Amino acid sequence: MSISQKDAENIWHPYTQMQLYGKAVAIVKGEGACLFDEDGKKYIDAGASWWTNIHGHAHPHIAQKIFEQANKLEHVIFAGFTHEPAVQLAERLLRILPPSQKRIFYSDNGSTAVEVALKMAFQYWHNKGELRTQVIAFKNAYHGDTFGAMSVSGRSAFTAAFDKLLFDVIYIDAPVPGMEDEAFAQLKNHISRHITDISSFIFEPLVQGTAGMITHDAGALEKMIKLCKEHGIITIADEVMTGFGRTGKMFACDQLEVSPDVFCLSKGITGGAMAFGVTSCTQKIYEAFLSDDRMKTFFHGHSYTANPIACAAANASLDIFESENTFKKIGRIAGQHEAFVQQPAIKVNDNLTVRHLGTILAIEIDAGETSYFNNIRDKAYHFFLERGIIMRPLGNVIYLMPPYCISEADLEYVYGMILKFIEEDLR
Ligand code: PMP
Repeated sequence: MSISQKDAENIWHPYTQMQLYGKAVAIVKGEGACLFDEDGKKYIDAGASWWTNIHGHAHPHIAQKIFEQANKLEHVIFAGFTHEPAVQLAERLLRILPPSQKRIFYSDNGSTAVEVALKMAFQYWHNKGELRTQVIAFKNAYHGDTFGAMSVSGRSAFTAAFDKLLFDVIYIDAPVPGMEDEAFAQLKNHISRHITDISSFIFEPLVQGTAGMITHDAGALEKMIKLCKEHGIITIADEVMTGFGRTGKMFACDQLEVSPDVFCLSKGITGGAMAFGVTSCTQKIYEAFLSDDRMKTFFHGHSYTANPIACAAANASLDIFESENTFKKIGRIAGQHEAFVQQPAIKVNDNLTVRHLGTILAIEIDAGETSYFNNIRDKAYHFFLERGIIMRPLGNVIYLMPPYCISEADLEYVYGMILKFIEEDLR
């Protein structure tokens, strides 16, 4: 029996209607930007394995560091104990994050990084003797699948079964081009009405991934963060997807002149090799938890907090940024994206809306209705899969977010297939 058949008998996959899509492709090997299935078929990993992979699959340096760490210390409780990979990583992250960031809190995925950020913000106010229960978030935001992260995400098909169980959030429009003033006015209005209730403002900076790679105007986002900071509202940048070079800078917030108070990191942090999450914060937030009163403790921690093997993978990924001049690769991909979207077939096509920033390229196909279940999604997914490209469209938005090591030729091949799909689909 094939791996795929055995899987179909035993496993329940994420975000998958098992009755319709029971059979999973069994991947047996990864190398660079490519994956190979059990029949030997090669695929270009155009979505970087749920946006995690940045330096390529089975990268020898990351593999070696994981091996060395696993042979030395695989795990230890992180309350009362520490270890070198965690300390080294914290020092390195604090060097590359904006100077406002002073403390690193570890967890194990993007949703937990967000949960930690939200709990930090709520308890910050609690420890100061104020009950602030409101959070401001963008419409159509996506911050993860745990209950807190779902609560601050937009209500959608993903949350429908749980909507009544989620806490209320103040939604405002995102500062997408054309909506900058409106978004700012909404924020200002809510702040003036509810200032004593608002604990935090959470946002995916510059690119809202799951919403369809929606891009923000940087200046307008900056203004909104500044306004919150002026009113003491804790600003939380969810850089789970945008972090580690995706938007052309190490963090999307490096493109802003203002620095948020809290950062959530995951996905690319280990190069895509290990599950891991980080929430960083300012000294001011950290100090609100320091007290002789034990009730002010941050009572949060996962069994695998700061797992040494994951920390070793993250340190190895940061090594690669230096040893392989990763930003040069990022710049090359951004340049190729730019040249591709200038082609008349893309540029002068009324049925397409193009958004791109750094290594992210999204093409929205006008399909009458914009929805995750749009039938373009299935059509495109199978079209690309047959042609050896793994891409999970976001409804009618097809997008590229490749590992930074993707070759020029592989990227050109994917562009060619995108053109072919558009040509066939819109004919
Ligand atoms: N925040 C953002 C911006 C994300 O894109 C995601 C995942 N796509 C998450 C949080 C949740 O991360 P995870 O899937 O690791 O829980």
